[in-house]
Amino acid sequence: KAVRPQIFAKFSTDAKLYSKQHNPPRVPNLIGGAFIESRSSEYIDVINPATQEVVSQLPLTTNEEFKAAVSAAKQAFPSWRNTPITTRQRVMLKLQELIRRDIDKLAMNITTEQGKTLKDAQGDVFRGLEVVEHACGMATLQMGEYVPNVSNGIDTYSLREPLGVCAGICPFNFPAMIPLWMFPVAVTCGNTFVLKPSEKDPGASIMLAELAMEAGLPDGVLNIVHGTHDTVNAICDDANIRAISFVGSNVAGMHIYARASAKGKRVQSNMGAKNHGIVLPDANMDATLNALAAAGFGAAGQRCMALSTVVFCLNGNTLKPSKLYHSYTEVKYSPLYKVRRVEIILQAKASTRFYDALTYAILPSKTTQMTSIEQACPELYVYEIGYMSMRSRSSLRQLFHSVGILWGWGRGGAHSTILLGGEDKLVERAKALKVNAGTEADADLGPVISKQAKERICRLIQSGIESGARLLLDGRNIVVPGYEHGNFIGPTILTDVTADMECYKEEIFGPVLLCMQADSLEEAIKIVNKNQYGNGAAIFTSSGAAARKFQTEIEAGQVGINVPIPVPLPFFSFTGSKASFAGDLNFYGKAGVNFYTQIKTVTQQWRDLPGGSGVSLAMPTSQ
Ligand code: NAD
Repeated sequence: KAVRPQIFAKFSTDAKLYSKQHNPPRVPNLIGGAFIESRSSEYIDVINPATQEVVSQLPLTTNEEFKAAVSAAKQAFPSWRNTPITTRQRVMLKLQELIRRDIDKLAMNITTEQGKTLKDAQGDVFRGLEVVEHACGMATLQMGEYVPNVSNGIDTYSLREPLGVCAGICPFNFPAMIPLWMFPVAVTCGNTFVLKPSEKDPGASIMLAELAMEAGLPDGVLNIVHGTHDTVNAICDDANIRAISFVGSNVAGMHIYARASAKGKRVQSNMGAKNHGIVLPDANMDATLNALAAAGFGAAGQRCMALSTVVFCLNGNTLKPSKLYHSYTEVKYSPLYKVRRVEIILQAKASTRFYDALTYAILPSKTTQMTSIEQACPELYVYEIGYMSMRSRSSLRQLFHSVGILWGWGRGGAHSTILLGGEDKLVERAKALKVNAGTEADADLGPVISKQAKERICRLIQSGIESGARLLLDGRNIVVPGYEHGNFIGPTILTDVTADMECYKEEIFGPVLLCMQADSLEEAIKIVNKNQYGNGAAIFTSSGAAARKFQTEIEAGQVGINVPIPVPLPFFSFTGSKASFAGDLNFYGKAGVNFYTQIKTVTQQWRDLPGGSGVSLAMPTSQ
């Protein structure tokens, strides 16, 4: 039975309206241009993670319906591939306009089904919209190459042709952006498409398909089937499907990669992540901590680009952050060789013994001058050590070593701040974040996707504590007034995490930030490179040399320098590596166009053919 998609969209975007309904709306498939309610007897609930209300019901599409969707895509292919590329581009031009028109509606649907805040949901749509905008210039992207006269009177050129029916399998965390990484590029290249949205939040895909059809996409060019493992396996096995784009977990991604490759299909598989941020002592402290908190806890940590692990690093001669002192040291360089001016700022109750020892340690320099500004702030002491010889520098270092103060010399540059007490400041920032339903105006982060996801995240936090990590902030028992049944977890910070812990080895995919320490940049890079994932890694520093070393040596597909790992804009590609990606052509950008096209190389001869030279069986060579 065909259903009006607008009705579905209305219900799925208005939770309050929905709660009065007796029957949750059923999510239709899209087959050959019609939104059709499945005949399946098996449905699963799409649940609002903030309230546990059933938003809609999603069918486990029957095999017959799946075949009908593939067949519709196959039938639509010949005419769509021959549709002028300018016409295909114009459909995208219209689609981007319609997505802008309906961005609030789409965002509300995403927040209702996925839980992220409305602002974040708008970002989800917007980052996908940018791919649609990029697809508007497909003619240039899909251009072939031409070399005239490769041999006498012979020219060679290559064409990028569409493959045929392609398919996309989506995760729950970006219900708009990830479908938009897939079908706009595929169809503008001239392919037809079968999309399987995440069973947890299918609404945005349906709404985007409605918009694509309103924009003029012909019937059958984009089809949608719902389901879980069986539908995915059917996609892997169907001989009519030429290529599969997958985004999701490693278990599913590697299964799909193996199963579909064995059937001769192209697969691009974007998978899990454990993204690290390395913080050097010379980083801009405030900007860095803000970035870490945003990238660690945004979208409740459910982004493949979330920064889930921070490695505080202190350039060699350093110790673990002090538990006794909240302090930082400013190291100001004199242009004179080996002479430095040092200010040590202690924001804690250091013992008299320590002060005595400090005075003793720096005495040999004979330039010591202590300035106390206790009047201004009783907890703050400033020591101006003045210009130090290498000898006094080394005795000072030993002293700091003995009391466990974090200590190090910044790398080049005029000014260097050692990030001490960074973890405590992170805790302050994390505590200030508001956990609430995504529809509430003050929400910084919403719930995680499901009760099972919450249980898993809590289990990994507990296992971290049991294996020796220190819990600096615990978000497990948070209760959100008015949303007591929601799957909420507040920002959580674990420190003293080591690489052998389960919480480190597993992707947590929740609002949990792990803190580690490294003595040097080299050690920090080693930690990151040893991790199986390679989606992204970031460094925070004011040293160009350190950033360049990091960029060169780090084994990650996406690198942030003083920015947490960003999702690259569509003129680049999303370039995860190691266990975060399987395949060789990444999503969107040039690689995305290559993925959805096959090169055909043509050699032509248009001249008066020489007659009478006879038959030559020798390998043709250029003449
Ligand atoms: P998921 O793997 O559970 O589900 C993704 C899709 O695969 C869904 O459509 C689901 O129906 C299907 N699926 C799940 N298990 C399957 C199985 N065993 N066999 C066949 N199909 C199966 O992933 P998710 O929980 O929806 O998404 C979160 C994961 O996605 C995280 O690991 C995250 O890092 C990853 N992710 C990666 C990127 C990236 O670009 N690298 C982007 C977003 C999300």
